[in-house]
Amino acid sequence: MKSDIEKLADCLMESKYAVALTGAGISTESGIPDFRGPGGLWQNVDSTEILSREMLYYRPEHFYSSGLELLNIMRNKDPNPAHKALALLEQRGLIQCVITQNIDGLHHKAGSKNVIEVHGDLRTAFCDACGREFPFEFLLSEAEEGIIPPKCTCGGIIRPNVVLFGDPMPPCFEDAIIQAKRADFMLVVGSSLQVAPVSYLPRLSRQIGIINLEPTPYDRAAAVVIHEKAGSALTDLIKVLDERR
Ligand code: NAD
Repeated sequence: MKSDIEKLADCLMESKYAVALTGAGISTESGIPDFRGPGGLWQNVDSTEILSREMLYYRPEHFYSSGLELLNIMRNKDPNPAHKALALLEQRGLIQCVITQNIDGLHHKAGSKNVIEVHGDLRTAFCDACGREFPFEFLLSEAEEGIIPPKCTCGGIIRPNVVLFGDPMPPCFEDAIIQAKRADFMLVVGSSLQVAPVSYLPRLSRQIGIINLEPTPYDRAAAVVIHEKAGSALTDLIKVLDERR
């Protein structure tokens, strides 16, 4: 009988246009806690409050200290075997793009080229009035000097380029919808699939496969479900694909 990894390899090899959808779980093996898994970020602090639009505009001192600190934890980490495996799958033409909810930039660091960061990134910041872009480091240095909130020359507030709780989705979410609709296979890695509207994307693809430590609301609808660590599952997948070359 075929193993789940072999079934996943079949799905990818038989698909004409496969995409990956990743969540915080793909980066836990890089030392970044997720939100909902055991030991996740939500166990100690309420990220929905600290990383919210309300906090940014009504309690900026708290946002630019605690919120920025929480975001800063995710920077300067290294990609793990799961990120590298997805980059390799793209290089081999087995997936066409990675749609990620993560803001940590690890898919780029691992070598993935076609990445849609639907919740933003930690490389940049922008002025909420004129849209001018700034490096993320500028926010950190201004906050460290006590300039809170950091202001643009136009008078607008400079904020991180991440989707905060209460923010609308960025225009690139439309690209993610297009990719999901086009896909005949979506490989979901490390996502609880509980955060809307990204959690609706798997419904748009013809078939899905899931690698996640815990069960997700989509498990019953998936062609393959693997409840393992993303690093080992994707490393095994590459081995199976290599054997078939
Ligand atoms: P989530 O925290 O809701 O779910 C993560 C899932 O990954 C859990 O179900 C968990 O069981 C699973 N998981 C944990 N470690 C794993 C591993 N090694 N291998 C496989 N699965 C593993 O994550 P989400 O669905 O991405 O939603 C959380 C939101 O928080 C997202 O919107 C994201 O933007 C944000 N977030 C991002 C980061 C990051 O950029 N790295 C980190 C924390 C939260």
